Amino acid sequence: MKLPYERPTIRKLTAGALNKFGPRAGATPTTALDGVRVEELVARFGSPLFVLSERQLRRSYQAAVRAFGTRYPQVQLAWSYKTNYLNAVCRTFHQEGAWAEVVSGMELEKALLNGVPGPHILFNGPGKRRADLERACAVAAVIHLDNADELHLLLDVAASRPAPPRVALRVNLDAGSYPQWDRFGFNLENGEAWQALSRVVASGRLELVGLHCHIGTYVLQPSAYATAAAQLAALALRCQRKLKTTVQYLDLGGGFPSTNTLKGAYLPATDTVPSLDEYAEAITGALLAAGFRTGELPLLVLEAGRALVDDAGSLIGTVLATKRLADGRRATILDFGVNLLFTSFWYDHHISPARQFSDQTEPTVLYGPLCMNIDMLRESIALPLLSAGDQVVVHKVGAYNMSQWQQFINLRPNVVLIDQTSQVHLVRAAETLEYLQQLEQVPVHLQS
Ligand SMILES: *Cc1c(COP(=O)(O)O)cnc(C)c1O
Repeated sequence: MKLPYERPTIRKLTAGALNKFGPRAGATPTTALDGVRVEELVARFGSPLFVLSERQLRRSYQAAVRAFGTRYPQVQLAWSYKTNYLNAVCRTFHQEGAWAEVVSGMELEKALLNGVPGPHILFNGPGKRRADLERACAVAAVIHLDNADELHLLLDVAASRPAPPRVALRVNLDAGSYPQWDRFGFNLENGEAWQALSRVVASGRLELVGLHCHIGTYVLQPSAYATAAAQLAALALRCQRKLKTTVQYLDLGGGFPSTNTLKGAYLPATDTVPSLDEYAEAITGALLAAGFRTGELPLLVLEAGRALVDDAGSLIGTVLATKRLADGRRATILDFGVNLLFTSFWYDHHISPARQFSDQTEPTVLYGPLCMNIDMLRESIALPLLSAGDQVVVHKVGAYNMSQWQQFINLRPNVVLIDQTSQVHLVRAAETLEYLQQLEQVPVHLQS
């Protein structure tokens, strides 16, 4: 079917423009996180400080299991390590029953050290080296094949293995969302995926156990997942028919949005982002209608990352200074910047003052402490009249920030976890200069 033509449009985005609901007076303060006062956290652990909520981690995980598990008989979550691989976070999810989804040899080792059995580790990633494949085979992890060179390399590795390595095929396809991700895995539409599957099965040296597809990140259309699930299911049925191979699981990847608002969005994401239930309905609906015989439905695997962890992380910071810029705007300098809040490049994070102010607010530019022009957290945000020494809390920072943070100009700060009884645990200590210098070596001729 030909889609109707729509003319292109250009929309001017004006920083600080009001939406139709008008300005909100004041800003609701966040004085405590999970029952622990912000003031106390800063006094004990310094600022900036990442704070993780174990209660929220478990709540999000259980909500996802419920959304999918009430609609489909067999569901398994695999925790996306790169989204946040602090051991305390991974272990919380593993305790809840999550497998591990890893994308490098380093992450594979981390999952093993966290006690995940090899067969419960799904090894994705487009850049696996020979040593990574050998290690994955040795621990019986499932290798999600990304490309033909990797397939050949694995066949070579498999030749000297006692048992055939377990593999899944990573597939990319047109799910109707834009931009289409086609750089990971084998393409479905051009026949590449089928060719690779035939090769895997015909080799007799690999055990095909799954099909995988991760269509994007922060995908806002549940219908895209319905398309992907239907296509993956059709491919699995074709494997059964033509290659006499039963695929044990279909892995629909991650990419479900959190309720962080994207830059330039008109309405807050809490009002616009579909619920996980809508994604679950789309995926399980497609699988249940795909034509599998009763009792032969494959296991449904999901690799939700940001949707499980974003809400559970907060970042406490302190105002270092405020100033008036030459063009008249107010600027606020915080003790954290894009070095710690990587996601501020595409999210307008919700930021609260940590104490009560009057209803007066002013638009301000938010800068971090880096001596770099790109270190801007927000071009314009309405905040109370903050002064040096005031604290702020950035909400929903659990995804990617604690793995993509940079040791750049400043060292990385403490990370604490507040457990379900409101006890505070240090889960990653602030870096020290000594830690930073440990790996450096000064050549003898530069030592004096
Ligand atoms: C990054 C990644 C995920 C998690 O993505 P989110 O958008 O955080 O849900 C899942 N699977 C694969 C293969 C990934 O690369």
